[in-house]
Amino acid sequence: MKNNQLIEIYRILLDELGPQYWWPADTAFEVVVGAILTQQTKWSNVEKAIGGLKEEGWLEPCSLADADISRLEEIVKCCGFFRQKASRLKNIARFFMKNDMEELFSIPVDELREILLSIRGVGNETADCIILYAAGRPKFVIDAYTTRIMKCLGREGNYIQLQRLFESCLPEDVEMYKEYHALIVEYSKAFCGKKRCEDCLLKGISTDKVHGYGH
Ligand code: SF4
Repeated sequence: MKNNQLIEIYRILLDELGPQYWWPADTAFEVVVGAILTQQTKWSNVEKAIGGLKEEGWLEPCSLADADISRLEEIVKCCGFFRQKASRLKNIARFFMKNDMEELFSIPVDELREILLSIRGVGNETADCIILYAAGRPKFVIDAYTTRIMKCLGREGNYIQLQRLFESCLPEDVEMYKEYHALIVEYSKAFCGKKRCEDCLLKGISTDKVHGYGH
C-alpha cells in the first residue's frame, strides 16, 4: 500500500531543500569507496580522502588492492578509524577484482545484498548505499538520521523494520529513493542537528497510521 504521509514528507523536504542529486561520484567504484569511508564521519572528510585516492590513481579495484598500506592509511586518516577503513578498502577492492561489478550489480537485489553483507566491514547501511547509489537498484537506505526523524514522527523500529516501512509505502522508484535519503540527511543536518525543532517542517505529521510493517 502506498502511503501519503511518507510521500508528503518527501514533498516537504524536496520543496524546502530542492533536489540533491546524490551520490556525487565519477564512477560506481568511487561510490563503493565513499560508502566505506563515510562510516561515522562527515562527507567533507570523505571528499578530502577521495581527492587523495584520485591523485594516487587508486580509485579502481586493482590499483587500490595493490596500494601501499601506509600511504593509504595516511590518505584516509581524515575520515577516522583509518587503519580499519584502509583495510576495509583493500578488502572490498579485492572483492571487486574477483567479481565483475556489472554482472554482480545485475543479479536480484536481495541476493546482491546478501553478498555485499558477507564482505568484512559492510553492514546494512553500507550495503544499501552501494545497491542504491552504485548499482542503481531499488533499496531504501536507513541511517541514524532517518531513525531519529521517524522516532519524532511516532514510529520506532530497527533498520530492517524501517526499511520495509519505506519500501512498502513508496513506489519502487530508484531516483526517488536516492533523493529521499539525501533529503533526510540534508534536512537532519540543517534542522535536527542544529536543534531547530521549533521550526521543524514535519511537525503535525504522524506516521502512527502508516501502514507497513506490523499492521
Ligand atoms: S527538527 Fe527536531 S522535531 Fe523535527 S525531525 Fe528533527 S529532531 Fe525531530
